[in-house]
Amino acid sequence: MLDDALTYLKGVGPVRAEMLARMGLRTVRDLLYHFPVRYEDRTHLTPLAEMKEGEKAAAIVKVLFPAQTREVGRSHRVLTRTRVSDGSGSATLQWWNQPYREKQIQPHTRLYIYGRATSHMGNLVIENPEFEETGEESDSEAGGLIPVYPATEGLQQNALRRAISNALEQGAAELEEMLPAQVLAENDLCALDWALRQIHYPDSLDNKERARRRLVFEELFLLQVALVAKQQRQHVEELGIRHNVDVPVIKEMVQALPFKLTGAQRRVMNEIRRDLARPHPMNRLLHGDVGAGKTVVAAYALWTAHMTGHQGALMAPTEILAEQHYVTLKHLFRPLGIDVGLLESSLKPAEKRRIQADLNEGRLSIVVGTHALIQSGVEIPRLSVAVVDEQHRFGVMQRAALRDKGLPGTQPDVLVMTATPIPRTLALTVYGDLDVSVLDELPPGRHPVKTRHIKTTQRERAYEQIRAEVAQGYQAYVVCPLVEESESLAHLTAASALAEQLRNNELAGLQIGLVHGQMSAAEREAEMELFRSGMRDVLVSTTVIEVGVDVPRATVMLIENAERFGLSQLHQLRGRVGRGERKSQCLLIADPRTDEARARIKVMTKTQNGFEIAEHDLNLRGPGEFYGTRQSGMPDFRIANIIRDVEIIGQARATARALIAADPHLNGPQFAPLHRGLRRFWGDKLDLVQVS
Ligand code: ADP
Ligand code: MG
Repeated sequence: MLDDALTYLKGVGPVRAEMLARMGLRTVRDLLYHFPVRYEDRTHLTPLAEMKEGEKAAAIVKVLFPAQTREVGRSHRVLTRTRVSDGSGSATLQWWNQPYREKQIQPHTRLYIYGRATSHMGNLVIENPEFEETGEESDSEAGGLIPVYPATEGLQQNALRRAISNALEQGAAELEEMLPAQVLAENDLCALDWALRQIHYPDSLDNKERARRRLVFEELFLLQVALVAKQQRQHVEELGIRHNVDVPVIKEMVQALPFKLTGAQRRVMNEIRRDLARPHPMNRLLHGDVGAGKTVVAAYALWTAHMTGHQGALMAPTEILAEQHYVTLKHLFRPLGIDVGLLESSLKPAEKRRIQADLNEGRLSIVVGTHALIQSGVEIPRLSVAVVDEQHRFGVMQRAALRDKGLPGTQPDVLVMTATPIPRTLALTVYGDLDVSVLDELPPGRHPVKTRHIKTTQRERAYEQIRAEVAQGYQAYVVCPLVEESESLAHLTAASALAEQLRNNELAGLQIGLVHGQMSAAEREAEMELFRSGMRDVLVSTTVIEVGVDVPRATVMLIENAERFGLSQLHQLRGRVGRGERKSQCLLIADPRTDEARARIKVMTKTQNGFEIAEHDLNLRGPGEFYGTRQSGMPDFRIANIIRDVEIIGQARATARALIAADPHLNGPQFAPLHRGLRRFWGDKLDLVQVS
């Protein structure tokens, strides 16, 4: 029953099931776990005669006449209206452009209505009220806390409520308690079926809180049990590689670098050096804001692989970033006589074969690439250090795949780099006990990037800035408006059109380059090289330059339609400038229309601190979106809020630890329901859960 299709439920036909499926709701169990976002307090009813204009109120009314629909004016808008009354007075209920309401409203029935009161020529009118038919005697039932669900277009709250209460009625009896009795008792948690009833239709706010706590715990516990178990196994089963390089040799390498390391870089390299020397595989997350200098730290780890007779691989999320790293690493390693390879999907087959042969025969010890690195057929036979840049772009599965490219029976040391700050709570939640290093110091001589919001009507000013900088020998990026990813062709057109327009008008006379995602790697690399070498003044680009690109003489970042970008994306884009000694500026051309968009632009002009920006982002978007838990291979949280529920995270983790310490594989028969719960929660990812 619980895992049956929704059409099994009373009142859910194929059409409604289809709408529910669009929200990811396919089984009866899914519905039970579709939690309200809030509740409406309907304990208080207001007689119609006492309703105040402009205020929301609830009432129980009787329908006087059949509802009627008519077109209004020449706008073709349709208005559906009906008259209702209660003991105290009467009112008109009306809906715009919802002619189907007509059939939902039957004369002489009693309705529970909730909506905002307005008045029209002295008459009480309630616009677009929510309503529910209520039986003659059941006034009290219609009150109380009524759930409000995240819904989808075309699906009414009432329909969702009905489906969910049917699911509770028909399905709750079959629910299996998956938390062991001891866990329930120790953490003072209520039973699952009670929790599910109370989360949907709470008898009181206290009950709702109690129910919520149980469900949050369940979710975080299922997460932690798998992570803790995985970690235990890892310590026992996985074979790491010891990398030992003498300190004087390391010092020599550091001396040969083109700059003096910052204190933070030295500290982090030391942490990595110690990890690399251990027999256990390294699992380290390196966090450093954009421009903090993560690449040279990665280079050091890769170099260690080379020096100990192994191979190192650096995986980047986009071709342009892989190419950038390739250029940087080549430059860093040339004086040391170390060659670097580049592996991308867009390479010609012959080139790919050559690189593969070099890897097989040990001529190449350091390779950079995109996800092409983890495609089947590619082998890095002596892989011992794997670096993953901008980890939030990759999923757990892809990291696992890279890990598996090396010698069978060994596990490479893994360094994951990110500019997205990961709070301690999340590190615990999602990444288990990943070790974290922080580059909290920018290279010397950096100035904050001055960020300005420019309205589209004033865009000429932005171009003046670019001309002024170019006149002094500096360079600028112009980022095109964001287009839906599915419309990559449209995006390309937008980029070429913008470049063309700038060449002919606003920036006539300047050398203008263009890069976009549809170019071949070679074309793009050639364009980037022209920009890097100063042959181009301005680079018009799609967001392909979002991460990692490093051209110190670029001092202006102009972003078109900035209101369409997310905060972390804007922060990344801005990070492309301010990389040299000269003060840089970021110009956000935008006419934000929503409060959220305005808030984003404002945050950008106010702060440059990655942590602060991440915090705002988290508030604006919510944790699921923010960390892309879905794409990172983590299950989605349906109810837990990793910010608010920190305390429960700790409890769930401690409980999971104690349980696994006592019975490492949870073999006891009392754990069978828990295993079923884990399988459901994680799906096919359960076997792949990695600590990073
Ligand atoms: P990110 O952390 O964003 O990946 P990069 O590694 O691209 O940063 O470094 C940003 C820029 O700073 C590069 O031009 C790099 O050469 C330079 N850089 C890195 N470390 C130092 C340092 N210690 N001193 C001076 N410049 C540095
Ligand atoms: Mg980088």
